[in-house]
Amino acid sequence: RASKQLHPEASVIQVGNVKVGGGNFAMIGGPCSIENSMQLEETAEYVKASGSNMLRGGAFKPRTSPYSFQGMGKQGLDLLHKVGKKLDMPIVSEVMSIDQIELFGDVDMFQVGARNMQNFDLLKELGKTNKPVLLKRGLSATIQEWLMSAEYIMSEGNENVILCERGIRTFETYTRNTADLSAIAAIKKLSHLPIVIDPSHAAGKRDMIESLALAAVAAGADGLIIETHPHPEEAISDGEQSLYPDQYAALTEKVWKL
Ligand code: PEP
Ligand code: MN
Repeated sequence: RASKQLHPEASVIQVGNVKVGGGNFAMIGGPCSIENSMQLEETAEYVKASGSNMLRGGAFKPRTSPYSFQGMGKQGLDLLHKVGKKLDMPIVSEVMSIDQIELFGDVDMFQVGARNMQNFDLLKELGKTNKPVLLKRGLSATIQEWLMSAEYIMSEGNENVILCERGIRTFETYTRNTADLSAIAAIKKLSHLPIVIDPSHAAGKRDMIESLALAAVAAGADGLIIETHPHPEEAISDGEQSLYPDQYAALTEKVWKL
């Protein structure tokens, strides 16, 4: 169960060689989409050098338009595995459907995207594995609905769930979504599961990311997941919210100081 009442101590989730929760912090960086081996290697090198302990990269992309780049698929996962192994970093990537699960053997943590938070069949199937799941909050999901989605995974036997707040839809249009940092305090009160904040998809604008990330850490988040690209203006997806390498390094340094 996700509830704190039944399980008062904070859960510590093991992702590869990294612990998350209970005072263990996950700093996850990488590109929105894996585009090619050079882009991924270059990104991973500076993400690792900054002291981050996990690598992200999308291979199956839930794009708003079916005409947009849909990701490199299995080939992307293979690249991510190769680079993660070389740099000794656990890897996380989004799984969009049940039939993709078998391709994720070398991936250390599944990501369930915001758009799939209530894909209950997918959640149940992930619950039958024992691999950690980073469960993103749906675009318009309440905290209770989000926790119920965690239950769908846990009720099948997989207790390795990490929650991820990535911004919700509000009337505000200046930002891509509204970062709900109050989710940190709410989850800490209601659940023992770790919570990671994704300021990239919340803000949608790279210049706002540092401020939100530092606020999240101060509020007690167990980790951050942040998009970065060696040349954000050339990124195939989410370039406007991807940090430049020097911005990423500067942010990471501040995070570790907190
Ligand atoms: C992503 O992490 O690139 C992504 C698509 O996230 P979300 O599901 O939060 O939109
Ligand atoms: Mn993205």
